[in-house]
Amino acid sequence: MYLTQKILELMKMSINLKDINRIVIKVGSSTLTGKAGANLDPKAIDDLVDVVAKLKQDKKEVIVVSSGAIAAGIAPLGLSARPSDLTSQQAAASVGQGLLMAKYTQSFNRFKIITAQILITLEDITKDAHIANIKGVLGSLLKQGVVPVINENDTVGTEEIKYGDNDGLAAKVTKLIEADLLVLITDIDGLYDANPTSPGAKQIHLVSDLSKINSDSLGGAGSSGVGSGGMVTKIDAARVVTSVGIGMLLTKISDLSDALAGKQVGTYFLPNP
Ligand code: GLU
Repeated sequence: MYLTQKILELMKMSINLKDINRIVIKVGSSTLTGKAGANLDPKAIDDLVDVVAKLKQDKKEVIVVSSGAIAAGIAPLGLSARPSDLTSQQAAASVGQGLLMAKYTQSFNRFKIITAQILITLEDITKDAHIANIKGVLGSLLKQGVVPVINENDTVGTEEIKYGDNDGLAAKVTKLIEADLLVLITDIDGLYDANPTSPGAKQIHLVSDLSKINSDSLGGAGSSGVGSGGMVTKIDAARVVTSVGIGMLLTKISDLSDALAGKQVGTYFLPNP
C-alpha cells in the first residue's frame, strides 16, 4: 500500500504527457531574434512550430504565447537597438507584430495548421465580459484545430513591455483557460540555484516548494537587449499556475521535446495547490 502510494507520488514528479490535454507554450523575444537589431530568426520559429505540430499530431490542444513584436520591429524601422521610451517600443511592436504573425502563419502552413492572432492585455483578464470573449474565442479556435498565437496588445497595454516579456500574461491565460501545463521557453536550460553566470551555480530540475526559491539571487532580464523578462517574472508565473494545480516547465527550445517526454532536462515546477 505504502509502496503504491510512493510510486504514484514519484510519477507526479515528472511530466506525463498522457495526462495532459491542453498546453500553453510561451516564447520570449530573445529566443526568436537572438539579439537587438536582428530580424526574426526563422529557424527558432520553425523549431518551436515543429514541436507544436508534433503535439497536435498527438491530439493535444496547444496555445502559443509569443513575444517578439518589438524586437521584430527594430530592424525595419532602421533602429539598431530596442528603443528606450514606451511609445517608440509600442510603435515598433505595431510594425513587428504583423511580421511575427506572417512568420508563424508560414511556418505552421508547412503542416497545414491554421493559426490565429489574439492580442490581449492583462487588464482584459480582469473584466468579466472580456474574459468571456477570450474564453469563447480560444475554445472555438481549439475545437477547430487552430493554434492561437497570443501577444500583449502593445498599443494599449504596457505591463509586459515594462517587466514581463509575456511571462505574467502566459500564466494568467493558462489559469483562465484551465490548461494542464504551462511551458516557458528560455535561453538558458532551466532554473539555477544562483545567477547561472556565477561559478558553482547548479541547475534545479524539480521545484516542489516555491517558498524555498530566493528570487533575488536569480538575475533579471536577459542580456540580449531585446526582451524584458527574467527569472523573477518566471518564478512569479510559476506561483500563479502551480497554486491552482497546474505544472510549469522551464526549458530552452532545443530541449523542449525531451522535456515534454519527461526526460531530466529543464526545470519542472510541480503543481502545489
Ligand atoms: N509584447 C511584447 C513584444 O511582443 C513583449 C514584451 C517585450 O518584448 O518586452 O515584443
